[in-house]
Amino acid sequence: MSNSFEILLDRYAELIVRVGLNLQAGQALFVDAFLESAPLVRLVAKHAYLCGARLVEVLWNDDALTRIRFQYAPRDSFSETPIGFVAAINHYATQRDAYLSITGKDPDLLREQEPALVALYQKALAEKARPSSESAMRDAFNWLVVGAPSPKWAARVFPNAAASAQVTLLWNAIFSACRVDEPDPLAAWERHARELALRRDALNEKHFAALHFSAPETDLFVGLADEHEWVGGASPAERGFLFMGNMPTEEVFTMPHRARVDGKVTSTFPLSARGRVIEKFSLTFEQGRVTHAVASNDQPVLDEFLATDEGALHLGEVALVPHTSPLAQAGILFYNGLFDENAASHLALGKSYPTSLRGGSQMSAAELAARGANDSLVHLDFMIGSNEMNVDGMNADGTREAVMRQGEWAFDMMQ
Ligand code: ZN
Ligand code: ZN
Repeated sequence: MSNSFEILLDRYAELIVRVGLNLQAGQALFVDAFLESAPLVRLVAKHAYLCGARLVEVLWNDDALTRIRFQYAPRDSFSETPIGFVAAINHYATQRDAYLSITGKDPDLLREQEPALVALYQKALAEKARPSSESAMRDAFNWLVVGAPSPKWAARVFPNAAASAQVTLLWNAIFSACRVDEPDPLAAWERHARELALRRDALNEKHFAALHFSAPETDLFVGLADEHEWVGGASPAERGFLFMGNMPTEEVFTMPHRARVDGKVTSTFPLSARGRVIEKFSLTFEQGRVTHAVASNDQPVLDEFLATDEGALHLGEVALVPHTSPLAQAGILFYNGLFDENAASHLALGKSYPTSLRGGSQMSAAELAARGANDSLVHLDFMIGSNEMNVDGMNADGTREAVMRQGEWAFDMMQ
């Protein structure tokens, strides 16, 4: 690895700690990472201590170990969950410490495995980690998801490159998506967060009742919760300081009403979920609920997902991303939700973010439900945007306004 790579990696670690997490002096940092990301994790720990972190705890995971478990462990043991990880993630959430998750898994990791077994494994983990994910989705503490290449992931993204070049190509794509290669990355992120905030504020002013998405194979009305709030860029944690939950982030998103979604929607990107890739799928909604789901391949994986709980059949997020976003323009298919969802407008099945409802992070589950929020053990983003997508904002009086045309913003922002 070259000198300049070391410099970029260090800058990336600094952005993660200072911009994404905005780590506060006196906080601990809990890191969930995979073995190959160790060089990045060490630099993250360095910057965390420079920011006054009290403790950096890292728990390592490993795709190869996960695969071995699926190959050799007893079939009736998949509701067992790792004790250390579950205890740690819930502990740090309760303490309001910072949480960093580094993704980079092989998108095809569990392709050979029985969908029902994978579903059981994922559900058990989600249930045990619920106290933590519940607090994270309310922004009770600063959390962040970022990417780092694993060789298998890099090979999936750049299949035609020489094996020796794939990881470097993926690092370069990640650095560029996260503005690490800009002359002044901190200033670039400040500017970017400000632009997202302007778009968010403009959409909040409009207060649409619903969004209408139309594109080839898509004709979908997404009713919004009456008290929905658009979110984008930096958000305040419970203690008041700002952080960003994803790097990269190009989206503004809000809360669909769980019972007000009607029509048909077709995905525009392959979906990486549960260790497999579903190339394309369509969902039909009636009064907010999925009534029909058809996948081009791996139909049982989609069916098992939708059977997780009642909330998995309803939407929890609607997000807009313009087709000219740098990630969309790069034209790279990442097979990883963090990157692909910031390249296209998307929806998510499953739990909604309480923060996308006015005052929602302070509400009880019953108060959220009464306002149209969706609850589930899962939250799965899937991409529906393209340069053929038009989005209209529908007002309560039935009038409409162009929000996006051919995938691009169609209204001006106040400066
Ligand atoms: Zn999103
Ligand atoms: Zn999402």
